[in-house]
Amino acid sequence: MSSRRNFLQKLSIGLSAAALTPLSSPASVFPDLRKPVKQLRVALMGLGGYAGIVARAMKECKLATLTGIVTGTPSKIATWKSNYGIPDKNVYNYDTLHTIANNPEIDLVYVTTPNSLHHKHVLQVAAAGKHVICEKPVADNAQQAREMIAACKKAGVKFYVGYRLHFEPHTRELVRMRKAGEFGNIMHVNNYMGFKIGDPTQWRLKKALAGGGAMMDVGVYALNGARYATGEEPVWVTAQESKTDMVKFAEVDETVTFQLGFPSGVIASCGTTYNFNNYERVYLIGDKGFAELSPAFGYGPIQGRTHLGPMNQPLITHQAAQMDGLADCILNGTPDPGMTGEEGLKDMVVVDAIYESLRKGGEKIYLYKK
Ligand code: NAD
Repeated sequence: MSSRRNFLQKLSIGLSAAALTPLSSPASVFPDLRKPVKQLRVALMGLGGYAGIVARAMKECKLATLTGIVTGTPSKIATWKSNYGIPDKNVYNYDTLHTIANNPEIDLVYVTTPNSLHHKHVLQVAAAGKHVICEKPVADNAQQAREMIAACKKAGVKFYVGYRLHFEPHTRELVRMRKAGEFGNIMHVNNYMGFKIGDPTQWRLKKALAGGGAMMDVGVYALNGARYATGEEPVWVTAQESKTDMVKFAEVDETVTFQLGFPSGVIASCGTTYNFNNYERVYLIGDKGFAELSPAFGYGPIQGRTHLGPMNQPLITHQAAQMDGLADCILNGTPDPGMTGEEGLKDMVVVDAIYESLRKGGEKIYLYKK
């Protein structure tokens, strides 16, 4: 009985890892169940709202486990230690972070600090010789992203961006169908993501900590989504801005619309805002079909339909799937589905061009010289 239970347990571990395996990796769909399951040991840095969501989700993980924290707020330590069983020796602050290099119980640091600190923190983690996941937006600009990639390469550590949707089943099905030609030639994309922001004193409205406004924070979802909906890299950008509250949005953008031109001739028409809700969609139109995800980018439930009918992909905990999926990439060498630092850099190149277009009154900015 107990060996049957063990077998079923191992099977469920194997199958859930298999369910997360990137589609392009058929060889690893059935991992070798005779091997003990090795886990990626993770420390979370910056114990705010999102770190809490990741930590709770990680309780579902099979291949990743939370073993450490990095925080500048001592009052948070006791709760995190008791909630997640973290020992004192795995608790760090920003001054002791470099000593994480000597800790064999931490393989990776997940940076969930405000945007403009990502560059500094990823460089510090790389210098300590640990793998790193950095939240989106990966940096304030493309130059910072290049420096982060170079630092991780030099240190020989893996560098991923927390683009959790690349492990989300509806999103993956859309990408699979597009790659299989089920939509025919992609003709147009219409993506947007935004919400009405509250507290006017928060760091998201301060340029020095946020790097930018809605575009930096959630516009990157629409942009990243345009890249996975088309499978192409944009060659030009135009952008327009609207600001209705000059006080609240004194330092950062409020509502931005932007257009991306792709080599095939497809135009993605996209938008982002901090000024209203219910603005969240991926809409891809091909000459043989279409796909719509809405909601498309939040924590779920993601909902979708195509020309074939409703999408019936499973509803999952995004952060658990991401952490198990990236652990599988790091531990077992499975290919990642579009979350490397290089993917973050590609988005930052476009974000830089969007802000340049805004500064130049909507001028068309060419990204890659022909
Ligand atoms: P938050 O304000 O809730 O948390 C930020 C944390 O960073 C806090 O614990 C804060 O104490 C800490 N911090 C360290 N140094 C700081 C400093 N100098 N100033 C201010 N705070 C400092 O923010 P959040 O919502 O958790 O966002 C954190 C990051 O995660 C952002 O980059 C954001 O874009 C990203 N995020 C991603 C998702 C996603 O779905 N992938 C969702 C939410 C947030």
